[in-house]
Amino acid sequence: MHSSQKLKLRKLLAKPQQIVIVTHWSPDGDAMGSSLGLYNYLLKKKHSVNVITPNDYPDFLHWMKGHKQVTDHLRKPAKAAALVRKATLIFCLDFNNLERIAELGMLVSANAAPKVLIDHHPQPSDFAQFSLHKTTASSTCELIFDFIEQMGDKKHIDKDIANCLYAGIMTDTGSFRFPSTSAKTHRIVASLIEAGATNAFVHQAIYDDSTEDRLRLLGFSLSEKLRVLPEFQTAYITLSEQEQSRFNYRKGDTEGLVNYCLAIRGIRFAAFFAERDGTVKTSFRSKGSFDVNAFARANFRGGGHRNAAGGSSDLSLEEAEKKFTGLLPRYKKELKKP
Ligand code: 5GP
Ligand code: MN
Repeated sequence: MHSSQKLKLRKLLAKPQQIVIVTHWSPDGDAMGSSLGLYNYLLKKKHSVNVITPNDYPDFLHWMKGHKQVTDHLRKPAKAAALVRKATLIFCLDFNNLERIAELGMLVSANAAPKVLIDHHPQPSDFAQFSLHKTTASSTCELIFDFIEQMGDKKHIDKDIANCLYAGIMTDTGSFRFPSTSAKTHRIVASLIEAGATNAFVHQAIYDDSTEDRLRLLGFSLSEKLRVLPEFQTAYITLSEQEQSRFNYRKGDTEGLVNYCLAIRGIRFAAFFAERDGTVKTSFRSKGSFDVNAFARANFRGGGHRNAAGGSSDLSLEEAEKKFTGLLPRYKKELKKP
């Protein structure tokens, strides 16, 4: 953030504000960690604060302090609209375009209050007066840490804030293994642990909280549904509505499934397709230079980062799979590059 912007924002935050924090559709660990980390910090600064999500998020994120106060726009549209309408400052976290927050985006643009974008996705659109945007950051949570530090308030980071931020950094870096994990990431994590983050607790709360059904769906997906195409260094999994309901699918149950495809020797491109509420949700992951953000934007109405992206399709599951495998020959050369 420019120092003039920083000063202006500090001035704004010196007076109590009616703050709304919004984050992207189907919030993940980084979306909720950054939103609730910032929420708990701004509460300490005596603001009135509300977190609004476009829809709901998985149970394994419900331990975060402030979870019970979150308003889900899809479930409570009138309450969410009223909160956005009266906001005097709006924070937009972990997304780069108002389209990513669905109808909530219209409400946010309709309010002339200043907006603060804090995000690490490439190609941000220009809708915010204040912006802390860095594509080299491992996660939005890393940027929230920077933000609190820039506001001169590192001392305000307590155990609850630290655990939220730790969770987002941990999930967005694949537990500190993706190339986005930098020395700075580890320094921030060290500070968070010093501030009280209980790293083993956060790991268990997120990764060791599966139902038996979820684990069996993983087993079924890997043994019955995994397709490997060695000539394209590609592996993928598809799941129909019926297959998911066989295992009593709940939101979050297939999170991380796509990463297993990348664990196969020689595989550089992984995809996951699942029928959800009448559309096909897609996830893409890569290792090395292959740009899945570009692939998702060009072919599946999506976006994300170079090595992790998502999107959706109105085709049937079978047609989406066909489209995907049909596209691979076009990308054969790019897929060969390390
Ligand atoms: P996931 O596959 O875990 O849902 O998402 C991976 C990454 O892609 C995340 O950074 C997420 O923000 C982004 N992403 C997922 N779905 C979409 C989408 O429909 N549109 C855009 N622009 N980005 C997406
Ligand atoms: Mn993120």
